Amino acid sequence: MKKLTIMAMTAMLASACNAPKEETTVAPWSIDRFADIEVLRYEVPCFESLSLQQKKLVYYLSEAALWGRDILWDQNCKYNLQIRTICENIYTNYKGDKNDAEWKAFEQYMKQIWFANGIHHHYSNAKFVPQFSETWFVEQAKAAGNDSTCLDTDSELLRAVFDPDFMQIKVNQADGADVIATSANNFYEGVTQSEVEDFYAKMKDPKDATPVMFGLNSKLVKEDGKLVEKTWKVDGMYGETISHIVYWLEKAATVAENDQQKAVIEKLVDYYKSGDLKDFDEYSILWVKDLDSKVDFVNGFIESYNDPLGLRGSWEGLVNFKDSANTARTEVISENAQWFEDHSPVDPRFRKSEVKGVTAKVITVGILAGDSYPATPIGINLPNSNWIRAQHGSKSVSIDNITAAYSAAASGNGFNEEFMWSETEIEHAKKYAHYVDNVHTDLHECLGHGSGQLLPGVDPDALKAYGSTLEEARADIFALYYMADPKLVELGVMPTADAYKAGYYQQMMNGLMTQLVRIVPGESIEEAHMRNRALIAYWTLDRAAADAKANNCEPALSIEKRDDKFAVKISDYEKLRTYFGELLGELQRIKSEGDFEAGRQLVEKYGVKVDPELHAEVLKRYETLNLAPYKGFVNPRYETVTDANGEITDVKVVYGEGYVDQMLRYSHDYSANR
Ligand code: ZN
Repeated sequence: MKKLTIMAMTAMLASACNAPKEETTVAPWSIDRFADIEVLRYEVPCFESLSLQQKKLVYYLSEAALWGRDILWDQNCKYNLQIRTICENIYTNYKGDKNDAEWKAFEQYMKQIWFANGIHHHYSNAKFVPQFSETWFVEQAKAAGNDSTCLDTDSELLRAVFDPDFMQIKVNQADGADVIATSANNFYEGVTQSEVEDFYAKMKDPKDATPVMFGLNSKLVKEDGKLVEKTWKVDGMYGETISHIVYWLEKAATVAENDQQKAVIEKLVDYYKSGDLKDFDEYSILWVKDLDSKVDFVNGFIESYNDPLGLRGSWEGLVNFKDSANTARTEVISENAQWFEDHSPVDPRFRKSEVKGVTAKVITVGILAGDSYPATPIGINLPNSNWIRAQHGSKSVSIDNITAAYSAAASGNGFNEEFMWSETEIEHAKKYAHYVDNVHTDLHECLGHGSGQLLPGVDPDALKAYGSTLEEARADIFALYYMADPKLVELGVMPTADAYKAGYYQQMMNGLMTQLVRIVPGESIEEAHMRNRALIAYWTLDRAAADAKANNCEPALSIEKRDDKFAVKISDYEKLRTYFGELLGELQRIKSEGDFEAGRQLVEKYGVKVDPELHAEVLKRYETLNLAPYKGFVNPRYETVTDANGEITDVKVVYGEGYVDQMLRYSHDYSANR
């Protein structure tokens, strides 16, 4: 059993990479700011210490990743690519006054849709409201040489930009609505929610122990009254773009680090050619077993958050390599997975008797693409197929160079001073928050998602539209419960017995109050991860209040006024942990039994609604700090050095590119339609 302390880890980090530094530097971290967005750079430490073969592999896989961009744009809304082209033409050809209010509003809109990969906000899913006039837009579009047929008054394209009631939300999860017909994504056309549910219910064989993920790589449309899947593959929908991805994947296969990795890449190519979801499952199994390679990647139709029914995968790409020093920490957690499972405060029937293949590592990303760009996750756990996870395990990663960039950009911005209860919490956060945050991600990804089991015969999709939120809540509450366990100190994962308090405070403050800065007044919470955080925090707040009333004592968790402003107060951390244990038990029961109604009630009661008074105050205080609630990243560039024969002799990472330049370059270089 390895023991790893925070001190030992810092020492390891310092000596992790002795390769000479490139002249180009990542600073400044923050490079653009507009609307509610801040754009940052991230650094790719230790890229120089990779072998030439590994550098080439990163380069080829990066090209394969960047080529998927337009697929995501089209998946997000069918007018996105057309609108982007018109806007980019205006942006690059504009000859007028750049202090003009219409231009300034347009420039912001352009930057917003680049960031969101379309006309809907990447997080809230609500359509952007342009602050420039339709007349100005049409004039500029025509002057920039755009095809004017789609610019007729009341054309669907103009309505997509300007009509607030047309395609107003990308993913609609409103209780009681037809979530398919009312969502503006491009996964379905001319079909209703019940038609989709019937279509897939008929395909599912309850006796099939290894079902494919139906609908993952296609669009469902109605043709001549019949439902048809349009499959995304080389000779299908998105064929031209996918051919480019395949071209770079085939190059990557020639420089794979070992036979296992080569087989992974070749299987992915097979799948892109066949469109057969059985090939995707075979690929996923090969991928999950590729544990020896330094370089790894995600490339394909992966997460289903953009489909209200959770079937269709948004295109995503990511290339990374292992951060060996930090990985030691997650290995300790993984090696003890069975201990955590056995001690989990859930009904023993819902525990896995044997936790398989929970592997975890800390990675350095080299490129972000598709649904991971520019806004990006800080942890990933794949594959998503339930039976593959159960039989073959899953791979979990935390992305350290991204969290490092976040904290570098955020240090000293005044946020904690404004919102935390007292100096004690602020000091505690300074000492432990970044580290404990990483441990939280590790526990969520390595153990949380992989823990527990369904009772025999329970449909994995039983929780339907609430499935994503409840699954994230289950993984988060698992992490919260164990974060405070003395076992983590014993294992050397946590530096002290009370470091977890920084994590508890942060999570409660975020779920109860500060994540509201991401919500527009009057809107409710839509995004699955945000719903999960609100669900946990508000359930616990209720639980603490009831407990306090019953026992006539101070609540362990409360929202109180401090200097006439709301702040979260935690008076008893240990009690908080016992509540988290109870909620973990209930969330696991809901998942294991497929209890849709109980899950729906939890989400609707605690995860969706916003207290308008608290919300207004949080927004006002946040505004005075002048911070951006959302952050994302530009990628570095990879430049090849070649010899006289055109052979690559080195690959260099370069950081200088700006946000606008990168977006325009991607549209130009990675678009099959140009
Ligand atoms: Zn998760």
